[in-house]
Amino acid sequence: MSSHLRFDVITLFAPMFEAVTGLGVTGRAHAKDRWRLNTWNPRDFTTDVHRTVDDRPFGGGPGMVMRVEPLEKTVRAIQAQRSEAASGEPVPVILMSPQGRRFDQTRAQSLADGPGAILVCGRYEGIDQRFIDRWVTEEISLGDFVLSGGEIAALAVVDAAVRLLPGVLNDDESAIQDSFNEQLSGLLDCPHYTRPETFDDVAVPDVLMSGHHANIVKWRRRQSLEATARKRPDLITAARERGWLSRDDEKILSSLQRRGD
Ligand code: SAH
Repeated sequence: MSSHLRFDVITLFAPMFEAVTGLGVTGRAHAKDRWRLNTWNPRDFTTDVHRTVDDRPFGGGPGMVMRVEPLEKTVRAIQAQRSEAASGEPVPVILMSPQGRRFDQTRAQSLADGPGAILVCGRYEGIDQRFIDRWVTEEISLGDFVLSGGEIAALAVVDAAVRLLPGVLNDDESAIQDSFNEQLSGLLDCPHYTRPETFDDVAVPDVLMSGHHANIVKWRRRQSLEATARKRPDLITAARERGWLSRDDEKILSSLQRRGD
């Protein structure tokens, strides 16, 4: 097991992070000290009387740009504090950015397996490029759309990583059965049902009420394969390349093709 997972988040909007430290499964794990999150406000590292963290862009154009000095001082302060801590391993400095690599379950897992990261949340038009060139080791995007700040992206990264820590989810919430997980061959999850058994004349699939465990496992696998083939055929290709599909899986997939699904 790695050392304690710790996120240091550089943000002008620290209260947003109460969403992960105070609520739900991540909040419960935070209260139990399974992971840590510190927020750092670059405003606290300014020297001018107005504590300015942004300025107008050179070359003109709309909006404001986050200044390099307060951000650099913030990173230095974090690194100094981290190296004093027992787990002084160097951590990635990750900029939340629409220009970054798309975040996925594999990156969530590797973060959960490591000591954590420094997450930089941009605001306004973005960040002075000199900060990025000197300090940022990786850029992560939530997807091909533009947010007004990096916070929502950082929250997604933290949440997705923390819920993978051993013991954070109860058995009955286990991440093993989730979409994209290796145990599920990287496929999409199967459909779920709970009480009532019949709702508006729509009954739960019989097999789930049968108590026949092996049949239930088979049914769920088939549902996962069908849903993935229909909604995310790229994941079927990826699973096949990794040798994660069995001969039975392939039979199911070719029967879907024959049916023209
Ligand atoms: N002018 C920039 C966008 C600035 S949006 C550009 O077009 O590339 C302000 C901040 O929001 C960014 O600095 C970044 O930290 C964050 N952000 C916006 N969209 C994001 C996304 N899709 N993923 C992660 N962070 C994002």
